[in-house]
Amino acid sequence: MPELPEVETIARGLAQRVTGDVIDSIWLGRKPEPLKSPAREIAATLEHTRIATVRRMGKHIVFDLEKNGVSSTQAQWIVHLGMTGRLQVCEPQAEILKHTHAILKLASGRELRFVDPRRFGRLSVASSGNFDAGGIEPLEAGLDRFLALLRGRKTPIKSALLNQKLLRGVGNIYADESLFRAGLRPRRRASTITREQMAKLLASVKEVLREAIALGGSSISDYVDADGEEGFFQLQHRVYGREGEPCLVCKTPIKRIVIAGRSSHYCPKCQK
Ligand SMILES: [Zn+2]
Repeated sequence: MPELPEVETIARGLAQRVTGDVIDSIWLGRKPEPLKSPAREIAATLEHTRIATVRRMGKHIVFDLEKNGVSSTQAQWIVHLGMTGRLQVCEPQAEILKHTHAILKLASGRELRFVDPRRFGRLSVASSGNFDAGGIEPLEAGLDRFLALLRGRKTPIKSALLNQKLLRGVGNIYADESLFRAGLRPRRRASTITREQMAKLLASVKEVLREAIALGGSSISDYVDADGEEGFFQLQHRVYGREGEPCLVCKTPIKRIVIAGRSSHYCPKCQK
């Protein structure tokens, strides 16, 4: 599952390649799952628009579109990559991969294609340009906002970090890594964490995400950047995926537990 840093990397790569290009036409496949808006609405919203910007909102990639060069008639194309979705910018003669669900023909002569073997990805449009990804951006959150979100919650802090209605786009790997750096156990109830510890946690979340973005995302498989190249480096995980291996700080074996169906990794000595 692409996490925030991967989506940020992909959105930046796309922005470099397609900003300013015009969508001449769109072909949509017959599989219904990837289409969160009706096919006709997607086509009507996208065709004959200019791509003004491409940016990340949570784990969504948002294309801001202008019609007839008038920015007041903005609409948006929203792509969620799901588990295995990817966006490919290519020449029209490039082989059309199996599981291609959308092909946008661009005025530059290139094509932007959406490929998704497992079909958990979603394409939708917001014709009024007011897409709301829900929650707050972790990289933009101030401490007061962060505290207000988590105050009094009796859920494990790990679950709260993963709750997309609170924070946008913090996924499993980054939640585990942030909790390790903040010295907090994943099962620790949010309501028992002090303000000082919360400040450390927020700083850790931002630090981990920024490091991963700087490395181009840390995904494990199935990702390609906007050129279709495998382009991601692995962040040095300190706990995630290291069950039984020695903690990098104290050498205690890393533990793995399951919280709300998700693997959680932590050091029983460094994290309280
Ligand atoms: Zn340790």
